[in-house]
Amino acid sequence: MSTGLAIRGPRSLLRQIREAMAGGGPVQSRLDMAVQIIARSMVAEVCSLYLRRASGDMELFATEGLSADAVHVTRLSPGEGLVGEIVRLARPLNLSDAPHHPAFSYRPETGEDPYHAFLGVPLLRGGRTIGVLVVQNRTERVYADEEVEDLQIIAMVLAEMVAGGALPSSGPLKDVEIAPHKPERLKGVKFAEGLAFGTAVLHEAPVAPEQLLSDDSAAEETRLNIAVSALQNQIDSMIEGQHGLVGASFEVLETYRMFAHDRGWNRSLLEAVRSGLTAEAAVERVRSEHRARLGQARDAYLRERLHDLEDLNDRLLRHLSGDHGAVARVLPDDAILIARNLGPADILEYDRGRLKGILLEEGSTASHAGIVARALEIPCVGRLSGLRDRISQGDKVIVDAESGEAFLRPRPDVVAALDARMAVRAQRQAEFARLRDTPAYTRDGGKITLLMNAGLVVDLDILQETGAEGIGLFRTEFQFMVAEELPRFNAQTQLYERVLDVADGMPVTFRTLDLGGDKVLPYLEADREDNPALGWRAIRMGLDRPALLRLQLRALIAAAKGRELRVMFPLVASVDEFRAARALVDHEVAWAMRRGRPAPSKVRVGAMIEAPSLIWHLDALLPMTDFVSIGTNDLLQYMFAADRGNPRVADRYDPLSPPALRALQAIQQACADTGTPVSVCGEMAGRPLEAFALIALGYDHLSMPPGGIGPVKRMVLSCDREAARRGVTSLLKGATGTLRSEVETLARKLSVAI
Ligand code: PEP
Ligand code: MG
Repeated sequence: MSTGLAIRGPRSLLRQIREAMAGGGPVQSRLDMAVQIIARSMVAEVCSLYLRRASGDMELFATEGLSADAVHVTRLSPGEGLVGEIVRLARPLNLSDAPHHPAFSYRPETGEDPYHAFLGVPLLRGGRTIGVLVVQNRTERVYADEEVEDLQIIAMVLAEMVAGGALPSSGPLKDVEIAPHKPERLKGVKFAEGLAFGTAVLHEAPVAPEQLLSDDSAAEETRLNIAVSALQNQIDSMIEGQHGLVGASFEVLETYRMFAHDRGWNRSLLEAVRSGLTAEAAVERVRSEHRARLGQARDAYLRERLHDLEDLNDRLLRHLSGDHGAVARVLPDDAILIARNLGPADILEYDRGRLKGILLEEGSTASHAGIVARALEIPCVGRLSGLRDRISQGDKVIVDAESGEAFLRPRPDVVAALDARMAVRAQRQAEFARLRDTPAYTRDGGKITLLMNAGLVVDLDILQETGAEGIGLFRTEFQFMVAEELPRFNAQTQLYERVLDVADGMPVTFRTLDLGGDKVLPYLEADREDNPALGWRAIRMGLDRPALLRLQLRALIAAAKGRELRVMFPLVASVDEFRAARALVDHEVAWAMRRGRPAPSKVRVGAMIEAPSLIWHLDALLPMTDFVSIGTNDLLQYMFAADRGNPRVADRYDPLSPPALRALQAIQQACADTGTPVSVCGEMAGRPLEAFALIALGYDHLSMPPGGIGPVKRMVLSCDREAARRGVTSLLKGATGTLRSEVETLARKLSVAI
């Protein structure tokens, strides 16, 4: 008996299947025809197609060789039989003697007893198995690797045909669980505040069914080879470009390089193309197999490798499309972008006017996506595990970036509740906009200066809109984090110049690079550390390897020319560090002057108070500084020993608890005693209740995310500072637990709008 699956070659087979599926007639007869063609071409006595029902059962949908009576009758519950085993493993099962396999489940209605050889492959879509395709032969044999590969390719084409909308979803396919359709609620982490309701757009859109098959394999092979070489060169040069610059880290890039040059990966891609797939479809085919397999891995290392592979696949697809980032995708006007994660420039490539929200499977608050989404004020929720497997292009979704949740295919009552919340929000926004030009004075005449935190060019567009009186914290590392490679001197200077131009005389405080910790760059050294938040980061890096810091200071000095330059250093933990950092500024200013370069009109150098150690050395620190700014995000994480990026512990400690408030009180007192200007620039400054407490402690310069300025101004305008001071001071005496509810009661008693 001949058993060569590839006798007529998968190319012509794929074509026949496509024609059978695309032809008119009832869906059932098209599926019947497809299994007939597969069985005939592969010289298999049996070919059966199982599809997943909404219940999770795998139902026999079409068969050639088994009893026709079993179609739509035989159903295997999840995990049952060999089909269940394939779903569980998400990979092919190749058996010479199927009835003797422990998972074999005998169904008399199928009449499958005489068949020994069994090869089943999953129909994968995204990371989900939506069906199983099986071929069987009477004789005991093991199918060859090429046959397994061929059947996987056929399964991919079938999966796309069934799930990609090529077949009418009425009739027998009506209740097929191709895509989830029930409402679902996923809990994640809020990356950028806000609410949105709209239509899901998949960032990594699957290849459309009509683009799966190529007409010219040789041409596809050439396209693939060109794209793979371009990818390899890109990664090689990314690695080489880093030599000697700042001590490159090779761990991340080397893994990339290893994968990019991996023979197995390249071979699988080539085989898929040779069998008749387009290059894009080949990438998807190999990707979905990796995803399904590695996605189940318990081992964290293996799952991380999957991320590397996903990135490589994305890059390869970009090379294939010839798109290196420039082409904006057409979006519906209520688009909610769905992605695993988004790289530096990804969000910026979409039409801002149509992009209403973002949902991510991964990411962190400090990731690119989080940073950019906050800057653009696009509601964003991340760390939604399993997101992409549960959503299809075009599904309706809610981004609830107040509670950090996503609602997929929400019921009408959930949408109605959201509409009401969105209306309240819009009303409040309009109220804040009206306050834009009102100066922030407390009721008893205290001037409170409200400043904005910024870090990207896109932030500058909204500086004027917010009514902020300047930028109290410009996070210079953002430019580095959203770039593919290290920004050079000119790029840095241009950005700083632009910031000062837009600020138009309002003060701007530049914070020097705050890298390390959770802010890692693929192109900069990042040795794995057990405790990155306590590790080699921020000013520590700057002082140990001063080349990068000096270059930045030079760029800042050059950009200021004739204007005031305000610079501060992050995570200063000792007075000696500040002294050394300040000396670098003096040195660079002197250097510029010696060369006759235009110097800043004035240079002000400050320290961020983020390390608790400084609280007990303010007497030495303050006289050396021109100003200080309190980074409460870090200060509190270190005081309470609670990782700010870890949702399990980040909210465990309250900025309105006695230790935090007393520390802030002590800093304010020391600054007042020495006449040192002080501001608070952590997130708490942007929350009305917390800002109320800060004002009560005597702070009058608050720098915050742009969205905080309106609400905080409204609070300031309704606040009597002296009464607040008296109230909070007395609460602090003898307090035993967090004072949140007491401070809130106080604010309400004083009719403060919090
Ligand atoms: C802070 O730590 O409070 C701060 C403002 O800096 P960043 O959030 O950038 O660490
Ligand atoms: Mg900080």
